[in-house]
Amino acid sequence: MKRRSFIKTVGTAGLATGALIAGAPAVHAQKKYRWKMVTTWPKNFPGLGTGANYLADIIDRMSGGRLTVKVYGGGELVPPFESFDAVSQGTAEMGHAAAYYWKGKSPAAQFFAAVPYGLNADEMAGWIHYGGGQKLWDGLYADFNLKPYAVGNTGVQMGGWFNKEINSVDDYKGLKMRMPGLGGEVIKRAGATVVNLPGGEIFPSLQSGAIDATEWVGPYNDLAFGFYKAASYYYWPGWHEPGTVLEAFVNKKAYDALPSDLQAVLDQAAKAAYNDMLSEFTARNNAALVELVQKHKVKLRKFPEAVLKKMAELSLEVVADAAQASPDSKAVFESFDNFRNQSANWNRIGEAGFSAARSLAIKS
Ligand code: CA
Repeated sequence: MKRRSFIKTVGTAGLATGALIAGAPAVHAQKKYRWKMVTTWPKNFPGLGTGANYLADIIDRMSGGRLTVKVYGGGELVPPFESFDAVSQGTAEMGHAAAYYWKGKSPAAQFFAAVPYGLNADEMAGWIHYGGGQKLWDGLYADFNLKPYAVGNTGVQMGGWFNKEINSVDDYKGLKMRMPGLGGEVIKRAGATVVNLPGGEIFPSLQSGAIDATEWVGPYNDLAFGFYKAASYYYWPGWHEPGTVLEAFVNKKAYDALPSDLQAVLDQAAKAAYNDMLSEFTARNNAALVELVQKHKVKLRKFPEAVLKKMAELSLEVVADAAQASPDSKAVFESFDNFRNQSANWNRIGEAGFSAARSLAIKS
């Protein structure tokens, strides 16, 4: 009897204490945050637009509905390439894009999206989370009143769609190609005319002949876009984007106004979204590639070694020049370059070593 009443007493006291503790933040927890997310993608676009939707959805669910994010497709609230400014100024609390779109704001931003001959998807996550990348990125975007996150990765991309064969570097002379970021700068030095277009404008430009070639992402995304209807040669590998990071940026004032548990929700939702997008591309790319080749009769081509070698040389120059653009760029470049050298050493033994071994077990 004594024991039972003891438990009862403690139990009641525990309950009372628990209620008291839960009661105080419960008032605070009532506050709901309603955010807008502007994106550079067409609404619901497979992989990228849906990646933005996924991020918004898990933020909602992980926060128990205390932080909800309404997603706007490119052009719905602001034009795609005005997303950065819109979030910087507080028109929307959040944006979803790729950092190389903002090279005009800071050349260093490009290192957080894709670097030609740079890091693959796993290595980008490694650099950002464990190699000092996030700290540099936070510092860079703080100047624009933003907090950045890596929220997706396409994996290695394809080299692009061309309306003629690429047999030598000379074939780039006079070629009008859509290619963003540092990769665009590389082909410019090879003689191409580089055009930067948001996603929704690429297909009509290729179809009308306003551009001769474009890169976009990889088979899964490119099939959905219908590029095979406008160009017949599809080149690999995507030397210019070995593992492109999709970013979210959050208005710093809006971020600072969140209680710490909701900030933690954002931090973890970003990582979940990164892995989810990469998983989706990994799972869907090959089926899309097979469909492009077998059903749509796309001519799949590998870039000649001489072209890849020349692009590698030009990439070193372009990246070195970007590093000289500002003190920020120099610091980011040094961190990135150091990480790439270490990764290349381990990759040779690890992933690349395994890939070579696995090919021995695959019947072709
Ligand atoms: Ca791309």
